[in-house]
Amino acid sequence: QNPIDRATPEKVGAVVEAKAVEAPVPDYIDYDAYRSQGGYELLLGLVEGHRDPETVIASLKDAGLRGLGGAGFPAGVKWDIVRKQPAPRYLAVNIDEGEPGTFKDRHYLESDPHRFLEGALVAARVVGCEAIYIYLRDEYPAARKILQTELARLQADPPVRGWLPPIHLRRGAGAYICGEESAMIESIEGKRGMPRLRPPYLAEVGLFGRPTLEHNMETLHWVRDIVEKGPDWFTSFGRHGRKGLRSFSVSGRVKKPGVHLAPAGITVKELIDEYCGGMLDGHEFYGYFPGGASGGILPASLGDIPLDFDTLNPYGCFIGSAAVVVFSQHDKAKDLALNAIKFFEDESCGQCTPCRVGTAKAALLMENGDWGRARLDDLCQVMADASICGLGQAAPNPIRCVFKYFPHELEG
Ligand code: SF4
Repeated sequence: QNPIDRATPEKVGAVVEAKAVEAPVPDYIDYDAYRSQGGYELLLGLVEGHRDPETVIASLKDAGLRGLGGAGFPAGVKWDIVRKQPAPRYLAVNIDEGEPGTFKDRHYLESDPHRFLEGALVAARVVGCEAIYIYLRDEYPAARKILQTELARLQADPPVRGWLPPIHLRRGAGAYICGEESAMIESIEGKRGMPRLRPPYLAEVGLFGRPTLEHNMETLHWVRDIVEKGPDWFTSFGRHGRKGLRSFSVSGRVKKPGVHLAPAGITVKELIDEYCGGMLDGHEFYGYFPGGASGGILPASLGDIPLDFDTLNPYGCFIGSAAVVVFSQHDKAKDLALNAIKFFEDESCGQCTPCRVGTAKAALLMENGDWGRARLDDLCQVMADASICGLGQAAPNPIRCVFKYFPHELEG
């Protein structure tokens, strides 16, 4: 049983009202500018009854919008499930963006924060959520400052008279595991951020024990455009049989790293050539992480796979939050895999043995150059099969990929 009965919104309250850390704030579309561009018209239409909640959900379903934090669960289906649960319901927005190589949420927060805030309010209206909790990665001081400023403006002059649910901004404390949805919920409740066993799922028993709609910030960022421009607009993008848009956080040995908005299904080679200005001088494409540290590692010879949800599963990888890390002949996949497993060792919450001991043991073996396959295979299997959450389940991916795609690095 979850220890949810120990916490209530009243007990946790507005405990964490952030002390602003000085950080340079980039230019962004503020409240007035956003409204002057038609912002919050969708919300207004919903509250005033000109828009139908069913149509909004249908648009999300028709557009194929999926959870962009990495899990890829269909957004419209999730809204449907949660709105059928008994009230009170909550909305929790995950901006803990901790997957190595991922920085897309920060990009959108620091350029157009009201787009996701409107998406969150639309979701709260359609699903019937009483309050919105935003969980922000603490390493983003400029984003925090922007959110504090813009939330104050929104609350001082609400876009819709008579309807604005409470919006609480919560700070994370630097733990990767708090990006896992149930650990985030625990953290918002004021407890140690440790993933919950499921079922029950958050849609039924989430924040403060109530049905909760949990979303990555970017998923909500797309709601307004999809509803206003229509699902066909969103699905008109896409390549190699895939549909929609993806925000790729690209880093590594490319000329133009950064957030690149590209069609779903683009290949990494196309992404490098068309969006990243090619490889850095003196570097040849050798391999890539398609989905951050946990999404596995692929060689250049598999650089023509469409990047999207599900397409990488047959290769033992996944796209996750679309963090593409490109490496070259000057790098070794086995070094990157070691780096990844040490990261997972550090960030394991320690709650379950396969992950806590498995990541530490694997890191120790690999650090000592002991890539004995039988033992590492065993460790990987136990971690993947018996860990409670995605951290431990995905931690073996980079190791397995080294055996599968880079065996030459282990010879001699
Ligand atoms: Fe914690 Fe790792 Fe178990 Fe997840 S898999 S609950 S991070 S110990």
